[in-house]
Amino acid sequence: MTTTNTRVLLHSRPEGEPTPENFEIDEGAVPEPREGQVLLRTRYLSLDPYMRGRMSTAKSYADPVELGQVMVGGTVSEVVESRDPALAVGDVVVAHAGWQEYAVARPEHVRRLDPEAAPISTALGVLGMPGFTAYAGLTLIGRPQPGETVVVAAASGPVGATVGQIAKILGARAVGIAGGPEKVAHVEELGFDAAIDHRAPDFADQLAAATPDGIDVYFENVGGHVWDAVLRRLNTYARVPVCGLVAHYNQTELPPGPDRMSMLMQQVLIRSLTVRGFIQTEFVAEHEARFLEEASAWVRDGRLQYREDVVDGLANAPEAFIGMLRGQNFGKLVVRVS
Ligand code: NDP
Repeated sequence: MTTTNTRVLLHSRPEGEPTPENFEIDEGAVPEPREGQVLLRTRYLSLDPYMRGRMSTAKSYADPVELGQVMVGGTVSEVVESRDPALAVGDVVVAHAGWQEYAVARPEHVRRLDPEAAPISTALGVLGMPGFTAYAGLTLIGRPQPGETVVVAAASGPVGATVGQIAKILGARAVGIAGGPEKVAHVEELGFDAAIDHRAPDFADQLAAATPDGIDVYFENVGGHVWDAVLRRLNTYARVPVCGLVAHYNQTELPPGPDRMSMLMQQVLIRSLTVRGFIQTEFVAEHEARFLEEASAWVRDGRLQYREDVVDGLANAPEAFIGMLRGQNFGKLVVRVS
């Protein structure tokens, strides 16, 4: 076995959009598992928008990564050495090993996968944290009723694609918003009732045409100009699960223009809107097992499809991550590490 552990460290904090210089590729020593631990080798690393928040010291729901430390991240990893009877060499698990080739973990902090049940990388996407985020935010906060209209942006990504397809399974009408004609075509192939390009100059008109009965659930993934257009079309009693605001993650100051807070609050009031932010971890204990059961069955019977964007090699993780925040990924972004 090799004795070096390739790692991606946070080298400096970004101002606005991250750059490759914010990261440092490092060759560390492979850690040694102690009694009650296993040594994991990363097979796939998940790249997710939340990692932008961890690069910054701005107050958030989780602590930032310290400078010089390994970037955090979910992984699918293989047990290569075990000092705990709960896991054996060769077992494949979902872990939080971060942007590195090797890590140690305790068995109770990982979840064992059945590699026969589904491709193991799906445990980072449709059958992992993003899929669960979609499921929890939509079914527990959005609560679409049959016939209602659900709108979601970043609709070719793992959260948005899953939101739209679950909305369809629940009998709602699904409208997806994505960047560029290729992604829009893919969203249509997934079975959404309509798909719209948020980069089109007539985006707001297209949204109006695609939502003739207004919008009952807007699953907020992006913010920015998409939210501006959606807000005008929300129905009375509409629900807005606020999941992410990726259009703002690289923002360093408030956007120019008038303060629109009073207008927003007026709409919340006169249309009795429910705007509810959430972090998926709040629902894991109670709902994850049911999600895994239901979503696995939907994937097996083809009702829940997914697309992955696989990048090879840890050294390419920084560029891929930077690109994702610009919309350059097409599907769930994962790095094949080994
Ligand atoms: P994606 O793989 O969909 O990647 C992000 C996508 O956002 C890009 O591909 C791009 O898609 C879109 N995007 C980027 N900038 C803009 C912009 N200015 N305007 C509109 N769209 C933009 O990401 P995920 O599916 O992993 O995550 C989706 C959202 O869910 C994110 O906001 C993320 O932070 C959030 N999230 C929240 C969780 C929670 O617990 N609350 C957990 C997991 C994710 P396109 O080219 O189509 O515009």
